Amino acid sequence: MNSIVLKKGKDKAAKHRHPWIFSGAIHELIGSPENGETIEVLDSNKEFLGLAAYSPYSQIRARFWTFKKEQINKDFFTNRINNAIQKRNEFRNSSSDTAWRLVHGESDLIPGLIVDQYNDVLALQILSSGVEFNRQIIIESLKEITGIQNLFERSDVDVRRLEGLEERKGLITGNVPEEMTILEGNLKFIVNISTGHKTGFYLDQRENRKIISKFCKGRDILNVFSYTGGFSVYAAFHQANAITSLDSSADAIEIAKRNMNLNGFNPVSYEWMIEDAFKALRKMRDIQRKFDVVILDPPKFAATQSQVEKASRGYKDINLLGFKLLNPGGILITFSCSGGINDSLFQKIISDAALDAGVSASIVQKLIQGPDHPIGLNFPEGSYLKGFVCKRD
Ligand code: SAH
Repeated sequence: MNSIVLKKGKDKAAKHRHPWIFSGAIHELIGSPENGETIEVLDSNKEFLGLAAYSPYSQIRARFWTFKKEQINKDFFTNRINNAIQKRNEFRNSSSDTAWRLVHGESDLIPGLIVDQYNDVLALQILSSGVEFNRQIIIESLKEITGIQNLFERSDVDVRRLEGLEERKGLITGNVPEEMTILEGNLKFIVNISTGHKTGFYLDQRENRKIISKFCKGRDILNVFSYTGGFSVYAAFHQANAITSLDSSADAIEIAKRNMNLNGFNPVSYEWMIEDAFKALRKMRDIQRKFDVVILDPPKFAATQSQVEKASRGYKDINLLGFKLLNPGGILITFSCSGGINDSLFQKIISDAALDAGVSASIVQKLIQGPDHPIGLNFPEGSYLKGFVCKRD
């Protein structure tokens, strides 16, 4: 079998079961594996460490499948997918939540595979050449395990280029409607699997949507980066006094309005702003508009480590404005989904923002991605979504 031999002293991460092997850790490649093919990983004494998918174009040159000697075949993936689904079962409220992440890549020991369920449809995202190489058997396993035949691929993400893969989007098998209505508890949301963000919906915020609900009753809410109105619909359901939803995407706001309607709330009763958040928040500050609750859930500002500094300025800017728009006693709920911004850096940014805004506030709750987006303890990079509920004095 083709193999890679690691440099002396570079097997520490592997011994801690971290799934990634960076190119700098590799001493020697033996053989000529294809992109994504399974190889053996050996330490500097040529002792077996595990089996990995080889990725010649990426800095992450290989991703471990296993640390045991076993076959990487359909049974292997069936096992892994079954484990991922079972791991979630006790957290899943399947009667009332019809959309759920089934497989979350590295943290489910299938590096590069994302599988989201929306009703009777599975949306797949393939982010690594190892999963791409095994695509067909993974698709067969998924169909057999779930009994779901309607599969759609959303591998239209530019990180695939790092793996030497083209983007891909489209129907794999079965029937997938253009639009679906999913359920989160009592609430309904429209999901467009083909054009929606990620695989259609921000499933990672499900538990946080429930948590913020308790701050909404009778309050004036500003939901910035509202997308299709996830937080706004929850706020309406929990009897907010007024809700302003702000997003730069007219299409997202249009669906947000339809989501309000779908849940029995008249969109005309709420305020909708299609604007750049940085500009709109400044304008609102200048006219001294105030809210009781401000939600900030921006897109990823830092996709890579090199963008962290610029991203930090962006986060500070919007959070400073967010604090300025808060009434005394108000609540800022602020998120970052940038992998490059860790929890303590995010806290520092929020603290600097409050200081510059001239407000005193404290964190009353920390938020993370939901249990269907687990964080492998061997994979700290999996902890990407951070949120703070900050109470202004
Ligand atoms: N809170 C949402 C997800 C937000 S995703 C939910 O729970 O479903 C981020 C959103 O920010 C996207 O809808 C995107 O259209 C919007 N966005 C990106 N850049 C923006 C900007 N500069 N101003 C306003 N909205 C922006």
